[in-house]
Amino acid sequence: MIGLHNIGNTMAADAKAKTATKKAATRRKAATKDSQFRNFTPYKPKRSEEYLSEGQLDHLRGILSQWRTQLMEEVDRTVNHMQDDAANFPDPADRATQEEEFSIELRTRDRERKLIKKINRTIDSLETDDFGYCETCGIEIGLRRLEARPTATQCVDCKALDEIKERQIHG
Ligand SMILES: [Zn+2]
Repeated sequence: MIGLHNIGNTMAADAKAKTATKKAATRRKAATKDSQFRNFTPYKPKRSEEYLSEGQLDHLRGILSQWRTQLMEEVDRTVNHMQDDAANFPDPADRATQEEEFSIELRTRDRERKLIKKINRTIDSLETDDFGYCETCGIEIGLRRLEARPTATQCVDCKALDEIKERQIHG
């Protein structure tokens, strides 16, 4: 009889931990999903302003470095969170939940680090002639697409085609 109450508490704590993990994962997904970053004011090119003028490049550089800062803060938060939470649970079920949570966090952190590297490469490539042109067909990727996906290296059409091919290969 005494045991039942405790089991109830453990299960509640377990469910709570799972919800928290899910929430954290969803929140991070928003920052890394599809290489998108939405926190910017759209650039208004002047009439007759040429594609990728200095102003547009500065604007994209700004978006990229802001996004990188945000991701770096996320990575730091993950590290701190894991250090704070590294408690030793006597209950195997609690331990399993924590291990699951940590492995999700590690995967997220790995994804964020890769994305930071990609952002760094993109910032370096801003100075090159290839930047802003589709690596597959060579047309302009376009300012609006670059604003929404500054790490994009393909135009919308080539990207869509690649995704269709990808689905055909992997089902
Ligand atoms: Zn293309």
